[in-house]
Amino acid sequence: MKNFTIFAAFSSFYKKVSSMRQYHSHRYRAIRLTVVSAILCWTCTDAAAQLPEKNPYEEHLIFWRYPNNYLENQARVAFATIDEVLQAYPPQKEPALPRKMALISLDQLLHDTHNDKSEPFYTFINTRLQRMLEDMDRPVKKGLRIYKLYNDGFIIRTKDATVAVDLTPGGTKEHPFIADSIIYRIAGHCDAMFVSHSHGDHANLDIAKAFASRGKLVIAPKGLWEGVDPMIQQLLVADTTVDVPFKELNMTLHILPGHQDDMYNNIYVMEFHRCGTVAHTGDQWNEDDLQWIDNVNKRYKIDVLLPNCWINSMERSLKGFGPKLIITGHENEMEHTIDHREAYWITMKKFERMQSLGIPNVLMTWGESYDYKR
Ligand SMILES: [Zn+2]
Ligand SMILES: [Zn+2]
Repeated sequence: MKNFTIFAAFSSFYKKVSSMRQYHSHRYRAIRLTVVSAILCWTCTDAAAQLPEKNPYEEHLIFWRYPNNYLENQARVAFATIDEVLQAYPPQKEPALPRKMALISLDQLLHDTHNDKSEPFYTFINTRLQRMLEDMDRPVKKGLRIYKLYNDGFIIRTKDATVAVDLTPGGTKEHPFIADSIIYRIAGHCDAMFVSHSHGDHANLDIAKAFASRGKLVIAPKGLWEGVDPMIQQLLVADTTVDVPFKELNMTLHILPGHQDDMYNNIYVMEFHRCGTVAHTGDQWNEDDLQWIDNVNKRYKIDVLLPNCWINSMERSLKGFGPKLIITGHENEMEHTIDHREAYWITMKKFERMQSLGIPNVLMTWGESYDYKR
């Protein structure tokens, strides 16, 4: 009824304007265009307003006039298939083509901002981290097991120790990427946590407090969380290396004074006795530090290096640490804009170009693990 009344009013106005045509043909055309566009615009808006908010045909897989609903369903199917492929082709030095394809497809989904903070994204990451949590009951008999978590978060396990580095849930406090019910249970499996620097994609005070409240040590860089809890300690007070024996974990921690620009960024060299040595670089990015990084390989025999995938002077830095294996971190940090959300394919390309280094790498994504034996 409403449509009819408004349409009748427009018709009558249109007729009146038509009678002016022989006198003012220019003005007539302009008015005619305005009236026609107004009618079209009104009809479309009215039609859109009549669409139900939720696509009633979704369960029949019909998405006409619901493009966002279509994209959401496509993402859900793609994430689930990627998850299946990654399980069938776990991390290895020379990944098979399906695994590479799955990682590149994941890059595509994670660089399509339709999927940022979307339900398919949350389901994907939480399904994987829940599976990882269950896997943490699997004993480590020999060597090292390295889990990759969100962003630059890693957990390293030996038969004697489970330590976390830069454990964060991502997202916001109200809406974390990894649900509290999962991340805090993962933290519960760990004996200690080492935090590289104060940026929010590496340092999470709530998680640090969860460690401290259970009497587990957290090591943070200078200036971060000082005085918060006696179990949260800043051991590096001058720009020299500090060695911390952890007898009960059968390991020694070496803290190296790195920087991200001018910010303190502890580089942790974790020496797990008779199991292997792992170094985590945090967000290392500083030209001056390259002078001493060149010689790290002379002081420590590093088995596995966990560098940020965009570390500055990558080839020189990797040579300086001189590890036997590299597992990069920090790909697809979802809080970054897509140009600085470094993709897995970029890491693949970098290593293709650095083949002359002769150091193998294993490219991993969220919730995966790799067993390293000397
Ligand atoms: Zn940072
Ligand atoms: Zn970072």
